[in-house]
Amino acid sequence: MEHHDLIVIGSGPAGRRAAVQAAKLDRKVLVVEGRRRVGGVSVHTGTIPSKTLRETALNLSGWRERGFYGSSYRVKKEICGEDLGMRLGKTLEHEVDVLEHQFQRNNVRTVAGVARFTGPHTLKVCDIDNAETEFSADKILIAVGTVPFHPEGIPFDGKHVLDSDAIIEVPRVPRSLVVIGAGVIGIEYATIFSALDVPVTLIEPRQTFLDFIDREIINDFVHILRDRGMTMRLGCSVEKIEIGADGWPVTWLTDGRRIRSDMVLYAAGRKGATAALDLEQCGLAVDHRGRLGVDPATFQTAVPHIYAAGDVIGFPSLASTSMEQGRIAACHAFGLPIPPAPKYFPYGIYAVPEISTVGMNEEEARERKIGYEVGIARFRETSRGHIMGLNSGMMKLIFSLKTRRLLGVHIIGEGATELIHIGQAVLNLKGTLDYFIEATFNYPTLAEAYKVAALDAWNRMPAMEAKRA
Ligand SMILES: Cc1cc2nc3c(=O)[nH]c(=O)nc-3n(C[C@H](O)[C@H](O)[C@H](O)COP(=O)(O)OP(=O)(O)OC[C@H]3O[C@@H](n4cnc5c(N)ncnc54)[C@H](O)[C@@H]3O)c2cc1C
Repeated sequence: MEHHDLIVIGSGPAGRRAAVQAAKLDRKVLVVEGRRRVGGVSVHTGTIPSKTLRETALNLSGWRERGFYGSSYRVKKEICGEDLGMRLGKTLEHEVDVLEHQFQRNNVRTVAGVARFTGPHTLKVCDIDNAETEFSADKILIAVGTVPFHPEGIPFDGKHVLDSDAIIEVPRVPRSLVVIGAGVIGIEYATIFSALDVPVTLIEPRQTFLDFIDREIINDFVHILRDRGMTMRLGCSVEKIEIGADGWPVTWLTDGRRIRSDMVLYAAGRKGATAALDLEQCGLAVDHRGRLGVDPATFQTAVPHIYAAGDVIGFPSLASTSMEQGRIAACHAFGLPIPPAPKYFPYGIYAVPEISTVGMNEEEARERKIGYEVGIARFRETSRGHIMGLNSGMMKLIFSLKTRRLLGVHIIGEGATELIHIGQAVLNLKGTLDYFIEATFNYPTLAEAYKVAALDAWNRMPAMEAKRA
């Protein structure tokens, strides 16, 4: 039986980063991947495809230029599935090539097949021809990610009723779209298709959504979406979906409404992809959503030589955090000291418009009884915003009244997911309001909004408090 120092199950961001880290420590590493090609959900159906779709939609629709040339401005009048698929194919091919090369360069062996445990240190891998090969390892990392959650009664058909994996497989522009679930994935697709002029109805059983984001930002977001004609049915549950005689689904809501649409995207949750792993063979069990519990510092499971990282361990379920978790797991497994991770990581929501956030929001500051002041900058107040024709977008900074330290950054609008990193650095380095006031920013930039927002907060900070700090 072939033996390895580390076997990684899954080649998404967590598995890939762990494998490369262990290889750099001169360990013999094997990555097992159930798909034909490496990359995981992140490359094949999640992060990269949805962001490529977004970029294509914004470019072809002329979205970014509409502030200047008017809301009827279009770069391409008829946008079809082929337009979306072309860029998608090229980007994915490139991403996979880069990953395959990275594994090769680092001497990481990859095998294609579905892995299952046969013991705490052994795995069988079943390949596409149903041939099984057994491998053993000192350490094992489970980085199998998630699959879409399919509740009973939703008639998924791969054409009109889709989950978030299927919608990207053969992309098309529907005549109308119902999105069920206002989580990050649902919100991203709803707003991308709405930017392509598709009439979109978003259904969410709760009255609120994206509750980890600052409420003022969400209120702004909801206003922007309603203003451009998106229908939002918050506090409404789906009773059933029926397929009409013409093949179009009809979504029945519990409040009696029925919505006929060309396409329904069911985006209300994902579950850990642990079903095939035979975890009882190695002494592990999962929760009701197929997820594994780990030590949050080392990513060890209840069986100490077996680690788990990425979406299979739950929140925050981001490619960015999954990579770091994989790297830390590999460092711990092979005795490399792990410096404490920076306290704050950013959250990016690639909706149209983008939202990004790091640190505390106003609600948290209030709950924790921290005295704070808020500074706001609207992108249209910056010269760069004028040049770009932006008529929406805002940055909100939260500062401690007592220490003047930056507590949180919340951005909605163009470039939010890039701009956030300035705030993240200041936050993790324990910077204060004074940094933004004293620093020189490139001009004209959207980043200047940091200065504008800091000055806005400074104007309201009590003078005595400011001096004391
Ligand atoms: C639509 C969508 C958009 C997203 N957008 C973003 C974003 O903008 N930014 C961001 O940071 N994150 C985003 N995410 C989340 C991101 O994709 C995930 O956090 C990330 O992919 C998780 O990485 P992972 O390493 O846990 O595994 P995954 O990427 O989920 O990969 C796991 C791999 O394991 C394989 N596998 C499973 N079981 C087995 C088995 N038994 N044997 C062998 N192989 C197996 C699977 O085939 C899969 O390839 C998005 C997700 C979705 C669905």
